[in-house]
Amino acid sequence: MKKFLFFGPLLFVVQLINAQSWDWGGPIDPLQAKFQIQQYRLELEIFPETQSISGRSTITFTSQEKLDTLRFQLIDQYQVSKVLMDGKEVDFFQKSDLLDIVPTDCTCNQVEIFYGGPTPIAQNPPWTGGFTWEKDAMGRHWMGLSSQGEGAKLFMPALDHPSSEPQQGVELSITVPKPYFVASNGRLIQTQNQDQKVQYTWKTDYPINNYNINFTVGVFEKAETDFRSVSGAVIPMAVWVLQDNKYKAQELLEVLRVSTQTHEKFFGPYPFPQDKIAVVETPYLGMEHQTINAYGNNFQFVPMGKVQYDWLLHHELGHEWFGNKVSVGDWADMWIHEGLTAFGDWLFYWEHGGPEAYFKKARAEARGIPHARPVLSPPNSTEKTAYHPEIYTKGAMVIHSLRGVLGDELFFPALKAFASEEQFTYLNLVTTKDFTDFIQRYTGQNLEGFFKLYLETTNLPELKVRKQGKAGYRIALEGIDFEMPVEINTSEGSQKLLIGKKGVLVTSSSLPEVDPRGWLMLKR
Ligand SMILES: [Zn+2]
Repeated sequence: MKKFLFFGPLLFVVQLINAQSWDWGGPIDPLQAKFQIQQYRLELEIFPETQSISGRSTITFTSQEKLDTLRFQLIDQYQVSKVLMDGKEVDFFQKSDLLDIVPTDCTCNQVEIFYGGPTPIAQNPPWTGGFTWEKDAMGRHWMGLSSQGEGAKLFMPALDHPSSEPQQGVELSITVPKPYFVASNGRLIQTQNQDQKVQYTWKTDYPINNYNINFTVGVFEKAETDFRSVSGAVIPMAVWVLQDNKYKAQELLEVLRVSTQTHEKFFGPYPFPQDKIAVVETPYLGMEHQTINAYGNNFQFVPMGKVQYDWLLHHELGHEWFGNKVSVGDWADMWIHEGLTAFGDWLFYWEHGGPEAYFKKARAEARGIPHARPVLSPPNSTEKTAYHPEIYTKGAMVIHSLRGVLGDELFFPALKAFASEEQFTYLNLVTTKDFTDFIQRYTGQNLEGFFKLYLETTNLPELKVRKQGKAGYRIALEGIDFEMPVEINTSEGSQKLLIGKKGVLVTSSSLPEVDPRGWLMLKR
């Protein structure tokens, strides 16, 4: 009873903290617009028994002007104990999930932040993220971290805005008790044993989105191979699965190989050849953590043609191209991450299941779109504002429709070129306008009306088919002021006609079938 009285309020406080939800993005804080992050170097110790962390983050930055305040985000439930600049302690303030540091009069471009505390517990990972503390079948700890909806402030101090990526990447030295392993981004450059503990140091030199900085803790079985990229590079490929699932590791590795090959065919070479292609089994569904995708889909492979397909693995891997290599700096444009990646999922159907499987998938997805919100959100949107299901389904459908409008000879090279352009990749973040301008420039087509309609509104062209004369029909698309190429089947055969609001007269003794394969989103 005493125990209950003692722990009752404490538990209540912990639950209150953990019920909190965080957001990120929106307009950039003026104080944070004054500096850029070069690198995050994080040294963390993870304490599974108390579900807490403690450590030091060394942040290297550049600035064009003298800074009065160096502002980072870090959730208040972590306590900062000390901040050093140029080896000297400096003043700092923690309030409203912000960490304001008062720099000394130095010209130093590095700050060391010592902090720690209880980890925020994920309420519905990966959508409402945080730390997920699970146990494997042997009763051993299994920890996953997800933060797409919240940013890196859930685990480290950061300039936590989607437009900020550490230009020279991250280095993560994570210490855990033995026998645990830490799977993380980039390459494992050092493993250091310290009595009952072990420290794993991972490093990537590629820029990386804050929410992709990640680590998973568990006792894993590893399967690995070399992947030969279309670029000619030989890239390490690995999967880490719980030991209970070790007999599935080789099959998962093969699924990963086929998915990588499929993405490379349509999107170009794997974007992070200096690091690795990898997945780690996580206690939540999944996330596109750069070079260490979270995988929690329970090995539910389905046969497609001659290969096995795992929709979750294929989807998260697709984000290595759209999300991680091609990244948006404003969540308003988040449909570029999710729509293009979801379209990449449909391309697996195309490549391995054949055209029938692809069109069937596209039609099924199209039927489920509510057309309630535009896929493009207003400028400076937060993640919670911009994230909704249509950025996946309608986003993919826009790309599918674009394919129908352009034809494969124009569409596929344009898509690959967009994902390969220096001005749209790695540190060069993209906007929706970058994408729509590039596609039009590359293909020489005017698609302003098409993009405006499907990306910025919830309107759909209204299909009108009217009998005209004895053996004729007038087919029109009302509500648009441009024309789209539309497939039409008549008694005379199949043809593709440019159709707008004025309509086109076709000869047919039977009712024409308009867009029978389902390229377009129309009010039918
Ligand atoms: Zn996704």
